[in-house]
Amino acid sequence: MDFDLVIRNGTVATASDVFKADVGVRGGKVAALGENLAAGREEIDAANLLVLPGGVDGHVHFDQPTGDESEMADDFLSGTRSAAFGGTTTVLPFACQAKGQSLRAAVEDYHRRAEGKPVIDYAFHLIVTDPTEQVLGQELPALIRDGYTSFKIYMTYDALKLNDRQILEVLDIARTEGAMVMMHAENADCIAWLTDKLERAGQTAPFFHGVSRPRVAEREATHRAISLAELVDVPILIVHVSGADAVEQIRWAQGRGLRIYAETCPQYLFLTADDLGGDGFEGAKCICSPPPRDAANQRVIWDGLTGGTFQVFSSDHAPFRYDGPKGKKVAGEKAPFRCVPNGIPGVETRLPLLFSEGVMKGRMELTKFVELTATNPARMYGLHPRKGTIAVGADADIALWDPSRTVTITNDLLHHNVDYTPYEGIEVTGWPVATLSRGEMVCRDGALLASPGRGAFLPCGLPAPARPKGAPAPVLPF
Ligand SMILES: [Zn+2]
Repeated sequence: MDFDLVIRNGTVATASDVFKADVGVRGGKVAALGENLAAGREEIDAANLLVLPGGVDGHVHFDQPTGDESEMADDFLSGTRSAAFGGTTTVLPFACQAKGQSLRAAVEDYHRRAEGKPVIDYAFHLIVTDPTEQVLGQELPALIRDGYTSFKIYMTYDALKLNDRQILEVLDIARTEGAMVMMHAENADCIAWLTDKLERAGQTAPFFHGVSRPRVAEREATHRAISLAELVDVPILIVHVSGADAVEQIRWAQGRGLRIYAETCPQYLFLTADDLGGDGFEGAKCICSPPPRDAANQRVIWDGLTGGTFQVFSSDHAPFRYDGPKGKKVAGEKAPFRCVPNGIPGVETRLPLLFSEGVMKGRMELTKFVELTATNPARMYGLHPRKGTIAVGADADIALWDPSRTVTITNDLLHHNVDYTPYEGIEVTGWPVATLSRGEMVCRDGALLASPGRGAFLPCGLPAPARPKGAPAPVLPF
């Protein structure tokens, strides 16, 4: 027997090619791609199926303390289980520093939260909220060298935000050490001022969450983030871009040759402000930041995905239950929007939604789908080529897709621990029917086959896209 596993007769797709091949797996890695491979100890017939790299979701929140009485619904088990059923094999949740906490202590805390739980592989992004001298001078550089090579910083939310001076200090460390900085770009003072004004006028229903975070507040912060990065001469990745105005700023920067990368998410393609405006409190289900915009914006985001403005398509899964005392209603059933936890679930629906509306409806090539959802996130965060592609030597992280299966998304079908999905009732064509991680079947035909804790922690390398312009490429290590 040459292989532990052979996936036969399928159509393989990578970010560059689509071809008929058998995939031979040995020791958890792809060992061969070719026609008529020798027998494997196990065989899977993938005739009429697509053999895609497992998705890499570069933006998820699991078991992250919130600072109030609310609690995230998904831990590292339910979160990774949900991801796997949606065709994803690697997730990058956040290890968030509380103000006053050491960054190292935050990382250790999240490792404890994950222990014994994940069913797929995972790495951590850091969230830097308190860039003290100790953090900047010692902890951050040491953590980057230990494999935590990306971190998110916030320009909004009182508990998380950095001022411009602090952002510059963090960007400077990223430049020196070669890490990737992800930025949440919304202008905090604009939002606070509008929120106060809306509250005084009694406009506190979930719908007004969107009104309090207008596109111009995203545009201004996006422009500022770009300018700060240009000053320091370091690439950055602007996360969860929602509006046409921010897209304009990103294109302007890219057109000037700056290394500005961008991410968008399903909520900006499939939801609008109307979803926040349902009767009563229902709109709270779709409260996230930045908020969903309108149909014209959705078209701009689609164009950005297909046209190369965006490199990464992530879920920004931030799971809160609708009912119960720990979720969206933590401050009561009629709470003002400012008291509603921000975030929506989406780790399981990310890929089927984009596959159906993007690939099946002819908006994007299959190769583009793989690039946006697997290969590029792996590159951006220093996991490529181990993750995010099907190539000899890569981990055998593979999702088998039935491109002809039609599914109506309902929450009953999903495997997260949230009691709703914002995408209830959407019909999609194309569905991941089996997910393999390092050659092991994690789930197949609706059944979970992996045991909790099998997922491995992945130290990340220094991402090539984080290199400053003009910096020489390091000599390859082989
Ligand atoms: Zn964010």
